[in-house]
Amino acid sequence: MYEVEKGYFSVGLEGDPALAAAISGELARQRDGIELIASENLVSRRVLAAQGSVLTNKTVEGLPYRRYYGGADYADAIEALAVERACRLFGCRFANVQPHSGSNANAGVFLGLLKLGDTILSMDVAAGGHISHGHPATLTGRDYRIVRYGVSRRTERLDLDEIASLAREHRPKMIVAGGSAYPRAIDFEALRRIADEVGALLMVDMAHFAGLVATGLHPHPFPHAHVVTTTTYKSLRGARGGLVLWNDESLSDRINHGIFPGVQGSVMMHVVAGKAASLGEALEPGFGAYNQAVVENARSLAEGLAGRGLRLVSGGTDCGLMLVDLTPKGTDGGTVAKALEAAGLAVNKNQIPFDPKPPEAPSGLRLSSNAGTARGFGKAEFETIAGWIAAVVEAPGETAGLARIATEVREMCAGFPIYRD
Ligand SMILES: *Cc1c(COP(=O)(O)O)cnc(C)c1O
Repeated sequence: MYEVEKGYFSVGLEGDPALAAAISGELARQRDGIELIASENLVSRRVLAAQGSVLTNKTVEGLPYRRYYGGADYADAIEALAVERACRLFGCRFANVQPHSGSNANAGVFLGLLKLGDTILSMDVAAGGHISHGHPATLTGRDYRIVRYGVSRRTERLDLDEIASLAREHRPKMIVAGGSAYPRAIDFEALRRIADEVGALLMVDMAHFAGLVATGLHPHPFPHAHVVTTTTYKSLRGARGGLVLWNDESLSDRINHGIFPGVQGSVMMHVVAGKAASLGEALEPGFGAYNQAVVENARSLAEGLAGRGLRLVSGGTDCGLMLVDLTPKGTDGGTVAKALEAAGLAVNKNQIPFDPKPPEAPSGLRLSSNAGTARGFGKAEFETIAGWIAAVVEAPGETAGLARIATEVREMCAGFPIYRD
């Protein structure tokens, strides 16, 4: 167990040593290791303060200024601030900032805009899609008829002809774009043309590239998408949860009712306060520079890996995220992810498109530059990280080598401290 941290993170936890020690341990893990998991990032003290605030005590239901319970003046002001900032950041007219998670944002939109049994055309998880887009293990997979599109075997990118022909054949009520392991920019305009041809709504889930959209570094889903969803804690570097964004006022009641009471109860007001704080930060000029660095660092990591003989799915990345194919190396993502963890590098195993291996031991690794960039790593650090990853892929079983890298990782992290000031 770790020593309990003295200072900011232990204030108020003195009476609960077991919990304080575990939180200190997690803080040390984040400080001393390199986070490359694409669904993670590091938030600011401001976001931590807002999310850890007394707003957790306040129960509200419904929308700002139209609550069921009284005493909601400050809660209304906070949620209205989050909504206004979300709309300003993404250049849209309406936002719902209540979804407890990205999955809830998606489920709420489906519930509000679709009828039971309607057809949804979404990306196959095996090709890089997200489970909340209708995977059979989820309620969305049970309540709707799901048709899946994948990627082209040759380019490993979306095949717009395939999507168009599936749309013509199955006449979906909604087409969903975006995934959790798709490293390339998406042509929203082309998808909207397909949606219009068959009378479908287009929903874009931009969880992994929302920060880039906000700062003009990725094609914008608006005006093409009817509705956009995102998580707030990946590329947006914010409090944990989801958002829904749209422009057409005639969709407002259905979307808002889909979230509450459709899939959620009362609002997590402390998290909405955290979202307001992080959306405020995303509107500051520094967020553009951060996202520019995310893209440059991802490129540096991708080139460093490719230069050492590792194959990237689709040959590279247009966002912060990339997928390494380990099949040519005769190993799998589970083995390498475990070895990398021992070396102080957190990544996740991931299926690659047309993966010959099972999901439990898939052929790929998913990496992202989000969190490393947030702590200040630049191109040189990501080039070094590429070297470490390539070395571990070659010899995942060599414990002495892993220990040597772990020491170097700690040294690099010490030069880029987090939550110290
Ligand atoms: C991460 C992610 C989600 C789900 O987020 P949760 O907060 O875990 O529910 C939804 N969609 C996409 C594309 C994601 O990457």
